[in-house]
Amino acid sequence: MPYNFEVEKGEKVKKYDLLVVGAGLFGLTISQRAAEEGYSTLVIDKRSHIGGNAYSYFDRETGIEIHKYGAHLFHTKNEKVWKYVNRFSSFTNYRHHVFTLHEGRIYPMPINLGTINQYYSAAMSPKEAEKLVESKTEGAAKDAKNLEERAIALIGRDLYEAFIRDYTCKQWQTDPRDLPASIFTRLPIRFNYESSYFSDPYQGQPKEGFCSLFGAMIKDPKIEVRLECDYFEDPSLPKDLPTVYTGPIDRYFGYRYGVLGWRTIDFKEKRYDLRSFQGCSVLNKSDMTDPSTRSIEFKAFNPERKEVFESEKTVVWDEYSRFAGKEDEPYYPIGTQKDKEILSNYEALEKGEKNVIFGGRLGEYAYYNMDQTIASALDTFENKVLCMLRSGK
Ligand SMILES: Cc1cc2nc3c(=O)[nH]c(=O)nc-3n(C[C@H](O)[C@H](O)[C@H](O)COP(=O)(O)OP(=O)(O)OC[C@H]3O[C@@H](n4cnc5c(N)ncnc54)[C@H](O)[C@@H]3O)c2cc1C
Repeated sequence: MPYNFEVEKGEKVKKYDLLVVGAGLFGLTISQRAAEEGYSTLVIDKRSHIGGNAYSYFDRETGIEIHKYGAHLFHTKNEKVWKYVNRFSSFTNYRHHVFTLHEGRIYPMPINLGTINQYYSAAMSPKEAEKLVESKTEGAAKDAKNLEERAIALIGRDLYEAFIRDYTCKQWQTDPRDLPASIFTRLPIRFNYESSYFSDPYQGQPKEGFCSLFGAMIKDPKIEVRLECDYFEDPSLPKDLPTVYTGPIDRYFGYRYGVLGWRTIDFKEKRYDLRSFQGCSVLNKSDMTDPSTRSIEFKAFNPERKEVFESEKTVVWDEYSRFAGKEDEPYYPIGTQKDKEILSNYEALEKGEKNVIFGGRLGEYAYYNMDQTIASALDTFENKVLCMLRSGK
């Protein structure tokens, strides 16, 4: 059941200074900051809940927090963002670890000394492993013409074929030889046994769940939330108000230069009467024999919720990646050359919209982690939204 924040607050604002389209993290951050500066905001979302893609809910049967649009882990290097989110929620000390299934065996990810020693059935020291991996590489990374060549130049053919090739193929639905080398940016390999997935200094999950964090951000009565309200379909919306738009940029301009490409994910849910199904939160599937890219066991994100964690019930979602159609949820921007051209046409039109500021992953056609979204929204508020509001008053 979605929360109904309007009823919870019991007070409605009638006159608004700002319209925010989209109650995802970008829109919520803008609304929170506007309220803090004394402005009243109407924030709308076409979905039945706030939080955008980071929304989660507590499953009625099991009490497990389920991330409706795929697993979300909070992690950041940005101290300002960390301090900001900690104003609205405390965080657990969850540290993320990922494993991968390859030819019937489980390996730790990202590739580290444990993965390498297990793969080669060896007990190599860091130096020995580095030497061995180097001996397996082919070509120079800087000359690589595609993702496959780059990966083989950096980590060697064995590890590439075992852990990267098929996974990448499933994730992008494209042969890695047809993907740009630039996707394989950093060396996904560690010559020690460090297996934490993220290296950020600030990590953890909101103690009471993501929705409690989002609810606290917009608790101020100067913020009114209207759900199941599509910006393009509700004629009663005050369209002349200063607006922050976080929906898809191509839709805003009526798709006049074309539709931007996205990938989406299908989820298949499985429920088990077991304390734990896979023993970890995220299990990647690195072979083509299994069409899913990974399985998420949600309760493992919150081992501190003892009763739920130790109960004999668990929920697992298998993920399947594919290209998004117009009706699908857009998850990851593809960013082909054609997409870039389409985007630059829309960005040119955006400059003519004097009373509208575009932001967030859909409004900018960019992949942002949650912390980057918040950082960008805080920055946009200080540098653009405040000016727009002050000049509108
Ligand atoms: C599968 C997946 C996993 C992720 N995992 C992580 C993770 O582990 N860690 C991390 O830091 N980040 C993660 N992210 C990224 C994270 O989801 C984003 O950073 C964040 O959600 C971006 O917030 P946003 O407000 O820009 O966009 P969104 O969350 O998409 O919010 C935009 C909102 O606008 C609404 N909207 C669109 N059009 C209209 C309209 N016409 N009228 C009204 N409302 C409209 C949408 O319904 C949506 O609610 C993940 C993303 C995905 C897709």
